[in-house]
Amino acid sequence: MTSKITINLTDSRKVKPKEESLAFGRHFTDHMFITDYVKGIGWQNSRIVPYAPITLDPAAIVFHYGQTVFEGLKAYRAKDNSIRLFRPEENFKRLNRSLDRLCMPQIDEIDALESLLELLKVEQDWVPTLEGTSLYIRPFVIATEAFLGVAPATTYQFYIILSPVGSYYEEGIHPIKILVENEFVRAVKGGTGSAKTAGNYASALKAQETASAQGYSQVMWLDGIERKYIEEVGSMNIFFKIDGEVITPEINGSILEGITRKSIIELLAHWGTPVTERKVSMEELALAHASGKLEEVFGTGTAAVISPVGELNWNGTIMNVNEGITGELSKKLYDTLTKIQLGDETDSLNWVTELSSSYVNM
Ligand SMILES: *Cc1c(COP(=O)(O)O)cnc(C)c1O
Repeated sequence: MTSKITINLTDSRKVKPKEESLAFGRHFTDHMFITDYVKGIGWQNSRIVPYAPITLDPAAIVFHYGQTVFEGLKAYRAKDNSIRLFRPEENFKRLNRSLDRLCMPQIDEIDALESLLELLKVEQDWVPTLEGTSLYIRPFVIATEAFLGVAPATTYQFYIILSPVGSYYEEGIHPIKILVENEFVRAVKGGTGSAKTAGNYASALKAQETASAQGYSQVMWLDGIERKYIEEVGSMNIFFKIDGEVITPEINGSILEGITRKSIIELLAHWGTPVTERKVSMEELALAHASGKLEEVFGTGTAAVISPVGELNWNGTIMNVNEGITGELSKKLYDTLTKIQLGDETDSLNWVTELSSSYVNM
């Protein structure tokens, strides 16, 4: 990637949506970042341009064989009006791991972060101010070469688009209901589960649809071989508190390694509460529930930060967790992480990147 970015500003700014009624991923800002890759040359032509539809050859590899990866993170508006990012370097590291899995070219992580900061500088007015709102950042890479053979493309584009999003919890943090999926699987060891790539999400739609029809907001995935061990939930990693011990499924090659998951593990270690990373079976969970030892269940991910689970349905057996109320640990983790993100608590683990104040009032 060349570090010089050309900027072409739009002359027709959009009317911003009302912050009170922002949905997730429905509105996009005035500009986007693009850079092109050509095999043998590398990344070139980094540019910030007006947000607009893109033109691709109908034979572009991305449409047929799914050679594409993405990331997701947020920019937050602090009370002092500064704009803050939570561990963005981790997202670009993970993007490179996903790119490698899909035989796509590596990006320069430092250039990518600089490009994002440059785009945010142009779009800073789009970072909403209302409590709980943020500017969702979606970097993604697509294979653009027109070729119907199954082979890695020789040309790619890396984009960053931005979307103002509303509060995940409109009426405060509340527990969700989850259906344990026994038929479909999301990923298996050796597959692409640990990469943020489109195919994983397309293959999950069927199970998600069935769960929604039964009133469950997410599915919990089990391992692809025995349907025995817990993997993760929708687009969140999962944690359990059993008899005082905090446990999360270990990284096994099929689970997506969340940055929120990693942060929770590090934060708990910092507090002196170690997290056990190991295999957790549904049987173990059911036993813990039956003996009254399943204290808390919560999902972790950029969108909700912490999502407490109030009910699990495993083959028709309903397990209520903590009487459907948000657990103490879930609440404490949610409060601490959101305060660090917003600058209301000391960032003692050095997780936040602030948009340089020299950028303000450009
Ligand atoms: C993105 C994602 C997560 C959560 O990752 P974060 O970095 O914490 O947002 C978990 N599982 C899946 C399948 C994901 O796509």
